[in-house]
Amino acid sequence: MIEITNISKWYGQFQVLKDCSTRVEKGDVMVICGPSGSGKSTLIKTVNGLEPFQQGHITVDGTAVGAKGTDLPALRARIGMVFQNFELFPHLSVRDNLTLGQIKVLGRSDEEATARGLQYLDRVGLLAQQDKFPSQLSGGQQQRVAIARALAMDPIAMLFDEPTSALDPEMINEVLDVMVGLAQEGMTMMVVTHEMGFARKVANRVVFMDQGSILEDSSKDEFFHAPQTERARDFLARII
Ligand code: ADP
Ligand code: MG
Repeated sequence: MIEITNISKWYGQFQVLKDCSTRVEKGDVMVICGPSGSGKSTLIKTVNGLEPFQQGHITVDGTAVGAKGTDLPALRARIGMVFQNFELFPHLSVRDNLTLGQIKVLGRSDEEATARGLQYLDRVGLLAQQDKFPSQLSGGQQQRVAIARALAMDPIAMLFDEPTSALDPEMINEVLDVMVGLAQEGMTMMVVTHEMGFARKVANRVVFMDQGSILEDSSKDEFFHAPQTERARDFLARII
């Protein structure tokens, strides 16, 4: 469903992505890990066109990202993205956060958007919070709203960039539980995270990046039991 082929990207002289290739099949849960600054965020953002790149190509469900003529807003509408810092609209209620994209981008009626939004809000356990503003919610609750908002757009895949790393420890699991549920239902997911418990539970693939390169791209069992590179072994030894 997502095919990343020989992607390279530079910021001036600095090469942030070095000939990265990988693919995500429908229903895959890919965990991307690696040291800070290794290019994980940059790579995941290339998939929905948030980061341009100079070499290589990416297709998502047959659509070439970054090609001339690609309708990026339409592509982005089909891929859900959840960031470290929630990125809810602060001036809108939870309910309006859930409906805005559906109405503006997908052209749904107010009624339909509200019904779908509240269905997903219920799913993440926050139906009672629909009239609140983001600032009135905990970080874990805000992140669950962000996930519900993405799901209400009926995405074909979900991208997560360190969705729990800005959360207090006691809120991490409430967000991971939602993500585990999605994975178990067969959602196609690319997840940048250091939560190796999540990786062990639901990932079927693990990509390890260091200094802009993909050093490991393996099954979960291979990655945890027989990493191919010294750098991945060091990383695992430090993180687990
Ligand atoms: P990660 O998510 O793995 O921590 P990033 O993809 O955020 O890594 O960043 C990879 C590298 O690219 C880092 O060294 C970072 O400093 C650099 N970088 C990110 N954005 C920019 C930018 N706009 N200009 C220059 N360098 C950048
Ligand atoms: Mg990052």
